Amino acid sequence: MIRFPDYIRKHAFQRPQARALHFEGRDFTWADFSDRLHRMARVLRDLGVEPGDRVAYLGHNSHWLVELYFAPCAIGGVFVPLNFRLAEEELVAVLADCTPEILVADRHHAEQGARLTRLCPTLRHLVIADWNDTGTPDGALHLDSLIAEGTRPADDAFDESASASDETMALFYTSGTTGQPKGVMLSHQNLMVNAMGTGSAMNFGPADSILLSGPLFHLGTGSRIYTSVIYGMAMVVQARFEVVETARMIAEQKITTTTLVPTMLRMLLDHPDFPKFDFSSLRLLTYGAAPMPQALLENAIGEIPGLTFCQSYGMTEASPVLSMLPPEDHKPGNPMTGKLGSVGTPLPHCDIRIVGEDGQFLPATQRGEIIVRGPQIMRGYWNRAEETAQAMRGGFYYTGDAGYLDRDGYLFLVGRTKEMIISGGENVYPIETENCLSKHPAVAQAAVIGLPHKKWGETVHAVVALREGQSAGADELIAFCRERIAHFKAPRSVTFWSEALPLSATNKIDKAAIRAAIMARHGD
Ligand code: ATP
Ligand code: MG
Repeated sequence: MIRFPDYIRKHAFQRPQARALHFEGRDFTWADFSDRLHRMARVLRDLGVEPGDRVAYLGHNSHWLVELYFAPCAIGGVFVPLNFRLAEEELVAVLADCTPEILVADRHHAEQGARLTRLCPTLRHLVIADWNDTGTPDGALHLDSLIAEGTRPADDAFDESASASDETMALFYTSGTTGQPKGVMLSHQNLMVNAMGTGSAMNFGPADSILLSGPLFHLGTGSRIYTSVIYGMAMVVQARFEVVETARMIAEQKITTTTLVPTMLRMLLDHPDFPKFDFSSLRLLTYGAAPMPQALLENAIGEIPGLTFCQSYGMTEASPVLSMLPPEDHKPGNPMTGKLGSVGTPLPHCDIRIVGEDGQFLPATQRGEIIVRGPQIMRGYWNRAEETAQAMRGGFYYTGDAGYLDRDGYLFLVGRTKEMIISGGENVYPIETENCLSKHPAVAQAAVIGLPHKKWGETVHAVVALREGQSAGADELIAFCRERIAHFKAPRSVTFWSEALPLSATNKIDKAAIRAAIMARHGD
């Protein structure tokens, strides 16, 4: 079966001079990309990477990171992108878990890379991607110098050693929203099926230029790299999302599509310069990875006329997309616009079911756990046989998300099973309450958690960040919700957060941090 490096070679043959990659003022054609990929694979092999060995990257988004998505697998290795926002202790734990042979770091993480190399005995080499003449750690190697040395291997040099299509080519760690991040083993086949399903649904092709500004260590944005390589789209890489710079790049680089998490979209819309941003080249904006407040989405649809929106829902374990809400369902006036609160319909190869607590399949409209099977589901968790066995049962992957399918086959998410609040015997999923709160004009962000309560078991507690210059009292917000949703779903108490709510490394609202802060106050 075709493997990812084959696509790059194919574009290099068919469209050698077309742009494949852009990063910080530099363009790389498909011929350049293929050339660097082959050379990088040779460098890794010369450094001792054998089939199955891991190669990790620590740093911001860069063209080196995009290239590393493919160089290790060309010689049978496994790529592990690391979350640079983790604390050093957490990174040590992740490295002890995946035990890479080689750590590639960017210049911002060179010193940290050197410390990690000392702390992790299995790391044999530290390689710096973008060499910084001042202060590069002793003993570190320079990636581009190694690439420039020696001759370029022949196109078929690695055909024998590339990992098979059903073998692990990448290890992506989950966001750690519900516990320790878990390493998810994904094969070419897993990633390819998913990239094809999403790419064809969004009509991607060589005329598209995609802006990659979300964190590429996370599969939410990272999966777009696989899609781009299959469909021959130009990838414009931004080191880190920054509103004004992101908007400037969209205009300057004539970006046709990009992908954002809801918090990034909110930052864009709320920016004082928003009216001056030029989005005329943009045809499609995709969003997902965390619940999208409906009020924010409706606002975006109104504010950026002509732009189409598409939602993806999924998880690292599913490579990552399970369902999509297509542009048609975002258009005002479409009879299906009532589906705006849905995460869409399953991709063609996804078999999504809803199961009850005792494991029986539930009919349409009934709420239960979302389970799924299909060729995009992970091979398993790295080093976690027990958690793999728990998540993968009877041929299905249990997502840990709760939801229902309506009679038209649209999937509605009601929350994570672990976040469900049981208050006086009633089940409350925080998303519903959060969505309601976000409709209040003074509310910028809302996170809802359960607080322990002697009588009710738990009570619904809202943590709210207000819009600048706006005010609202707890009683007013509680009454606002009680008018719109069942009383037991409305908050019983509210904490006002004085700044923007804390975000996790993948820009999701960090409920664990919020909960810890509230519990500390609550305990006083
Ligand atoms: P961990 O598994 O380590 O606890 P995580 O589940 O946040 O962290 P990811 O794989 O990054 O790790 O995220 C997948 C989860 O994100 C899904 O299970 C779902 O809860 C949420 N999610 C993804 N897409 C959407 C979406 N479009 N709307 C709402 N929630 C979403
Ligand atoms: Mg998860």
